[in-house]
Amino acid sequence: MLSRFIAYYKPYKKLFYLDFFSAILAGFLELGFPVAVNQFIDKLLPGKDWSLIAWACAGLLFIYMLNAFLNYVVTYWGHMLGINIETDMRRKLFDHIQKLSFRFFDNTKTGHLIARLTNDLMEIGEMAHHGPEDLFIAVMTLIGAFALMLLINWKLALLTFVVVPVMIWLAIYFSAKMTKAFHRLFSDIADFNARVEDNVGGMRVVQAFGNEAFEKILFNENNLRFRLTKLISYKIMASNTSISYLLKRLVTLFVMICGTWFVIRGELTSGEFVGFLLLANVFIGPIEKINAVIESYPKGFAGFKRYVELMDTEPDVKDRPNAATIDRLHGNIAFRDVSFGYGGEAKVLRHIDLTIRAGETVAFVGPSGAGKTTLCSLLPRFYDVSGGSISIDGTDVRDMKLASLRKGIGIVQQDVFLFSGTLRENIAYGKMDASETELRAAVKRAQLEAFVQSLPDGLDTIVGERGVKLSGGQKQRVAIARMFLKNPPILILDEATSALDTETESAIQQSLAELSQGRTTLVIAHRLATIKNADRIIVVTEEGVTEQGKHEELLAAGGHYSRLHMAQFQS
Ligand code: ADP
Ligand code: MG
Repeated sequence: MLSRFIAYYKPYKKLFYLDFFSAILAGFLELGFPVAVNQFIDKLLPGKDWSLIAWACAGLLFIYMLNAFLNYVVTYWGHMLGINIETDMRRKLFDHIQKLSFRFFDNTKTGHLIARLTNDLMEIGEMAHHGPEDLFIAVMTLIGAFALMLLINWKLALLTFVVVPVMIWLAIYFSAKMTKAFHRLFSDIADFNARVEDNVGGMRVVQAFGNEAFEKILFNENNLRFRLTKLISYKIMASNTSISYLLKRLVTLFVMICGTWFVIRGELTSGEFVGFLLLANVFIGPIEKINAVIESYPKGFAGFKRYVELMDTEPDVKDRPNAATIDRLHGNIAFRDVSFGYGGEAKVLRHIDLTIRAGETVAFVGPSGAGKTTLCSLLPRFYDVSGGSISIDGTDVRDMKLASLRKGIGIVQQDVFLFSGTLRENIAYGKMDASETELRAAVKRAQLEAFVQSLPDGLDTIVGERGVKLSGGQKQRVAIARMFLKNPPILILDEATSALDTETESAIQQSLAELSQGRTTLVIAHRLATIKNADRIIVVTEEGVTEQGKHEELLAAGGHYSRLHMAQFQS
């Protein structure tokens, strides 16, 4: 996992080295200060050479200014490194999410994905910058300060060194605790996002049922859990900070006691004593650095673990290595002994055999839940069959490139998903590079023209989130306009008009009839009146395909279809 993390530094080697060496230089300059003070007291002060003292002060000023500049470099360019890595990871994760299959999204909460893309990656970016630098510099400063302390007085240095094992133990102890706390914190944030996403997305349902109080309780549970987790992590942080503060001061006190004794015995000059005291502070300074690392590592790695988990999720449906690119499908479809289940034992489809000729319009009817939508979603490989095969023009759909397969199939569903944005953007979704003329033609053929003209902003009208500002019929027409632009040889109409009133439905039926001209069309219909003229009607029940034929034939056969027809006719 560490090597995977390091790989993200590759494109930013220069930035990394700049940051790293600036930080090291700054660390060394920090070490120089106690030595300078030592020399100042012992050598310059007794000599009373004012010009030399002035030069020494000027030298110190220069070093401080250089150090200030280096600190700027480390903070700005170093964070740039972190942000670049964060941005790369976010782009890669988003790209990966685009590839994942329906099955993944069936089982994933949107809020969790959003948390992955935002919060987790921010922490990783922080770690990417501070991680290697801080740890390395902490160790370097520790070694450097200790070496200088040994030079001044090795006995006192060794006495002070006793504190190191305690420091290391503390670091390990708190790091483990923090990792656990942050893991929980992140999963709480993800749950939080999912909760809000669900609530806001379903606000119309919440308010219609008057269930605001219930929603508040659910939300509060999350909120309180989050509070608790956060409190726990702050408690750990607080103990860590105060214990290491105490440790630092104890070291200072210890050095003062021992140092005084050494000075009295004449083993240490007063300049060395002050220099040593300052060095001892630099020496334990890394405790603070290590504290920062303790905080940023677990946060970052908890996020990175989730990131890797998601990146390693393989799409169920993907291109086979030798998949063919098909220029344009013709539209001869064959289901051969197709079986399918969404997971677990229960199969939705069992041994389905079906042949559909290019250009034919076939209608699927049958009870809700029989598997009509499922059957149609296997064609564009939203899911792959568990048994048997589906072919188009004689080629198994799994041997085609997904992109070319899906380009050839258009789907209009009952609930049309519109993106927040303008009408134009939503229609052009059918063909991103459509010209204005093509767009206008599609609008006209979908019979949207009068509506568009009635809008003050025309095609540039904002449709609202998920198209809330449009009526059901208008949304359906947008979907149809999209389809005219996409112009696929195979068309699936999955209860496209079921949610509409009969008047709107019959108006839209005209557009749909025009749309299906010259295409292989699979219609799933609820109201039998809309499919009477289909070339073939296929009855799908829990037992599979039970009847098929023309309207009149099925009526005459007196089976499921005729009973269905009777029921609808009577009402
Ligand atoms: P129809 O379109 O004929 O009404 P569906 O194909 O939508 O039926 O559903 C067939 C069965 O598959 C139903 O029992 C339904 O509960 C189940 N089902 C549909 N979609 C999913 C899914 N994404 N995950 C799991 N089960 C599903
Ligand atoms: Mg359905």
